[in-house]
Amino acid sequence: MSQRGLLIVVSAPSGAGKTTLCKEISRVLPNLQHSVSYTTRKPRPNEKDGEHYFFVTQEKFSKMIKDKEFAEWALVHSNLYGTSKKQLSEMKNRGIDVILDIDSQGAMQIKDNWKGGIFIYILPPSFDDLKRRLTERNSDATNEIEKRLENAKKEIPQYKMYNYVIINDKFEKALEDLKSIITAERLKIEKFNPDMITKKFNI
Ligand code: 5GP
Repeated sequence: MSQRGLLIVVSAPSGAGKTTLCKEISRVLPNLQHSVSYTTRKPRPNEKDGEHYFFVTQEKFSKMIKDKEFAEWALVHSNLYGTSKKQLSEMKNRGIDVILDIDSQGAMQIKDNWKGGIFIYILPPSFDDLKRRLTERNSDATNEIEKRLENAKKEIPQYKMYNYVIINDKFEKALEDLKSIITAERLKIEKFNPDMITKKFNI
C-alpha cells in the first residue's frame, strides 16, 4: 500500500511518443494521474485548456515564476513550460502516483529539489524514425519540426541521467515496459506500511 504517491518523471525527445504513452498508462493503471503543465505555447487545434495544458500568457507565467509557484520550469523550443508545485504536492499527499511528462531540464530540477523521483527516458528506435514521426504528425510547421530535431540531438544524450530507458519501437511493448517499471516501484519494500503487516499477521 502506498504511503505517499510516487513521482514518475518521463522525458524524451519530441516525437518519441512520450505523451501518448503517458496518457495511456494513466488510463490503464489505477491511482495514477498525469500532471497538467502550464505553458505559454499556443494550443494546437485539438488541445483543450486545463486538459492538455493550462495555456497562459508570458506575463502570467513570469508572475508564477516570481511567486515561486513552479516545482520546475523550462524554456523548450522557445516556449515556457512549468509544473505547478501546488498540484504536485496535493496529488502526492493524497497518495496518488503522479506522472510528469517534462523535458530533461525540468527533470533535473525535480531530481535536485524533490525526493524519491523515478526517472524514465523514452527513446525512438532511431533518429530517422524520429524525423519520420515528427513529419507524419503534421501538427507543427516545417521550421518547428527542424527546431525539434535540432533539440533532439541535444536532448537524447541526457538519457544517462535517468533510472530507466524504454525504446519505443512497438507502442504495446513500450507501454508494457512502462507498466512493469511502475508496478515494480509500487511493490518496493519502502512503499509498504509496517503497521499494516503487523496488524494483518499479528506479529
Ligand atoms: P509540446 O509542445 O510538444 O506539448 O511539448 C514540448 C516539450 O515540452 C515536451 O518535451 C514536453 O515533455 C515538455 N514539457 C511539457 N510540459 C512541461 C513542463 O511542465 N515542464 C518542462 N520542463 N517541460 C515540459
